[in-house]
Amino acid sequence: MEKKVVVTVVCVAAVAGAVAAGVVLRKKMKKDGKWGRAMEIVKELEEKCGTPTAKLKQVADAMVVEMHAGLASQGGSKLKMLISYVDNLPTGHESGLYYALDLGGTNFRVLRVHLGGLNGGIVNQEFAEVPIPPELMTGAADALFDYIAAELAKFVAQEGQEHELPPGRKRELGFTFSFPVNQTSIASGTLVRWTKGFSIDELVGQDVVTELSRAMKRQNLEMHVSALVNDTVGTLAGGRYTNKDVAAAVILGTGTNAAYVERAQAIPKWHGALPKSGEMVINMEWGNFKSSHLPLTEFDNSLDGDSLNPGEQIFEKLISGMYLGEIVRRALLKMAEEASFFGETVPSKLKVPFILRTPDMSAMHHDTSSDLKVVASKLKDILEITSTSLKTRKVIVEVCNIIATRGSRLAAAGVVAILRKMGKDVAKEGEVQQKTVIAMDGGLYEHYNEYSKCLENTLTELLGEEVSKTVEVIHANDGSGIGAALLAASHSQYL
Ligand code: ADP
Ligand code: MG
Repeated sequence: MEKKVVVTVVCVAAVAGAVAAGVVLRKKMKKDGKWGRAMEIVKELEEKCGTPTAKLKQVADAMVVEMHAGLASQGGSKLKMLISYVDNLPTGHESGLYYALDLGGTNFRVLRVHLGGLNGGIVNQEFAEVPIPPELMTGAADALFDYIAAELAKFVAQEGQEHELPPGRKRELGFTFSFPVNQTSIASGTLVRWTKGFSIDELVGQDVVTELSRAMKRQNLEMHVSALVNDTVGTLAGGRYTNKDVAAAVILGTGTNAAYVERAQAIPKWHGALPKSGEMVINMEWGNFKSSHLPLTEFDNSLDGDSLNPGEQIFEKLISGMYLGEIVRRALLKMAEEASFFGETVPSKLKVPFILRTPDMSAMHHDTSSDLKVVASKLKDILEITSTSLKTRKVIVEVCNIIATRGSRLAAAGVVAILRKMGKDVAKEGEVQQKTVIAMDGGLYEHYNEYSKCLENTLTELLGEEVSKTVEVIHANDGSGIGAALLAASHSQYL
């Protein structure tokens, strides 16, 4: 009897031990299984985001085809290939005091530029930067333009006597407006549609210079808009002012776009008189490029579906600053939901759209500390995730790397398309080839080093060593504002 009891107890103990061991084992298996599932998601993401050389060449080819179609006819392509009315890029002779207003993303900038004329360069430039209140991006047209005009008036009111213009002469402004605009002259154009989180329906189809001029009048600000330019066109103009080999400009900021110098004869839809120079700057609006060759994932599709402009700006949604962090967030959310990547509960902050911004993503990506403390602090501050293993943080950096690499490599493919369109992507035998310089600007390009480094390496990979020697990428810092002021100068009403 006693024996039996003992046996039973032993058995019970053994069973209990076995049960306990089983629980631990199952927990471990579950944990490993979850980790395995998380790794599966990352691996799948990496595969879907793959951009091997051959694929990038297909992307570039497809973009060249669309460039031709967009130049041939209005509405002929997803690429609008807008005529900028800029047929004379700055020569260096521009002189005088001009203003610029740069609107088109997170902030807007007001600039005053003193141009010194031939060999004088830029004598002086001052600027003010103001964030755009998010509610104005989707509010009333007047509210947005009144806000801008008021800031401009403030900027002018604060200037000293030395900036006074000769009597009877109005201040002149170059307006950089970085949304798709159907230009009707150098200083007028109607808004085609909004991008980058802006949505003010009543402005679509309206002349944006008229709207700005009205708002300036409401602010009692005497100023004349002498040029309306896209930021890519401004950057091209600003770049050309300092480097005569600049032939294209690319913006990588909140959004993305590019402009380049086209032969006027190559623009069948151009109905104006052939420009004197035989050249015309084309604003590609490349953010709206789309192709079956683009490596899209479920995260891109859901981001697009939830956006203010579904189906539009697909290229932009893969490569620009407004979206990269959000793609990473969506991937991490899936890992949290399907693989308990951050523990049993899904961090609630991780469910908030756009909470993980691209600057935070790049800070994590650039974290060189051995214990990835920047990643840990970003997770804590932004997502309220307090404890993660080093292994987990490494995976997060990898996710950032996958998304940034895809974006920058696709941007490089776009640059190759422009070079090909200009006939500058092949080495011409026996010829000393002129340098082709691409002016780049935008917060993403400027601050996300892993991104810009990858873009430049990819360009070399796609062009080959020989051609790469003839292509140079330069950072045209704040070129779009200066470029707009230069174009206001060369299109001054007093000339
Ligand atoms: P915009 O495009 O709004 O005219 P910018 O050219 O200054 O203005 O670009 C701002 C954008 O650049 C931000 O929205 C952000 O996406 C990106 N950006 C800014 N700083 C960083 C950073 N440190 N790392 C990565 N991206 C950045
Ligand atoms: Mg900008």
